[in-house]
Amino acid sequence: MDTIILLGAPGAGKGTLAEGVRAATDFIHVSTGDMLRAAIKAGTSTGLEAKAFMEKGELVPDEVILRIVRERLAQGKATDRYMFDGFPRTLEQARGLDETLAELNGRVNQVFLLEVPTPVIVSRLSGRRICKSCGAVYHVTNIPSKVEGVCDQCGGPLYQRPDDSEETVLNRLEVYQRQTASLIDFYETKGVLVRINAGTTPRDATAELLSKLA
Ligand code: ADP
Ligand code: ZN
Repeated sequence: MDTIILLGAPGAGKGTLAEGVRAATDFIHVSTGDMLRAAIKAGTSTGLEAKAFMEKGELVPDEVILRIVRERLAQGKATDRYMFDGFPRTLEQARGLDETLAELNGRVNQVFLLEVPTPVIVSRLSGRRICKSCGAVYHVTNIPSKVEGVCDQCGGPLYQRPDDSEETVLNRLEVYQRQTASLIDFYETKGVLVRINAGTTPRDATAELLSKLA
């Protein structure tokens, strides 16, 4: 079971890049953020556990995250190739992933660090808008919809993710520095870290990543 990881601050463009990589390869995209939002929408016990943390921009407890990732991988096949987006986010999660993959004869092949200057991140997140019906992602100035507040693809209403408000964005960046940035050393020491300039356009960043994919 081969796996790659997209690592980077919130707003680095993990979701957008993941979509580009998914379309060009056979990697299966696993986003813990999307899984948690789906759990909240479905009203499951995991969703109830996660909701308050997410609204504040705090991390959901490691045991909850490791459980949903293990459940997901247990449904997979040995030949599957996974691309994680937004996971792992703590050393504890990274160690948990290593243990799980060891049981499945898998490994972390490459970890792509998406590097973006902080001011770019803040503007990307606070301007991000999402279609309530189809999930398409817009930005008030960078990727505006043709009609303000209305999705180009399906006509659905656009909204701001509750954790994209400016206050919560600043907290999420602090949480990234405090809890997730240590993963850079962890994976660099293992020799699997690959740096990507993600402050450009989604197209350029995706092309750079694909050219560095082993
Ligand atoms: P972003 O990368 O833009 O913050 P995500 O959708 O990846 O967006 O995450 C949104 C929120 O979901 C996080 O702020 C956190 O509360 C929760 N979350 C997602 N993945 C994890 C994880 N691996 N560990 C802990 N919390 C997570
Ligand atoms: Zn839509």
